[in-house]
Amino acid sequence: MGALLGNPFLDMTEKGRGGRSGGRALNVVALIAGIAVAIGVVAVYAVFDPNEVYFPKCPVKLLTGLDCPGCGSQRALHALLHGDVAAAVGFNALLVAAIPLLTLLTVAEMAPVRLQRLRYFLNSRGFILSVLAVIVAWTVARNIWLR
Ligand SMILES: [Zn+2]
Repeated sequence: MGALLGNPFLDMTEKGRGGRSGGRALNVVALIAGIAVAIGVVAVYAVFDPNEVYFPKCPVKLLTGLDCPGCGSQRALHALLHGDVAAAVGFNALLVAAIPLLTLLTVAEMAPVRLQRLRYFLNSRGFILSVLAVIVAWTVARNIWLR
């Protein structure tokens, strides 16, 4: 409509913003970059044991002595990459429990049109607040009962 009226500011269709193929190319680049980073992380954690090799320590743990929600994730990832699920759960059960959810989030973001309803649900306020509640509950529980 804006093009018909000659106003370029009203022509904000997909074609006016560079077209849909530009966005798709960006998605492919992002996907390739994401896969490369994931392979790099897997290689590092598969080869180096966080218990033996220097890895950055958690600042929350250093400052407060308390476990943050992510404490033990490096060791859990290393254990998972060596097939030791029990040890991974012992290091950080939330990380292990989050893997199916992270997989679902990734799939929903990779196919936003096909999985539109799932994507809306995963991005809904209720779902995000539920995840935050689980993270807070996990942090409290692991510092009180799971020490
Ligand atoms: Zn931590």
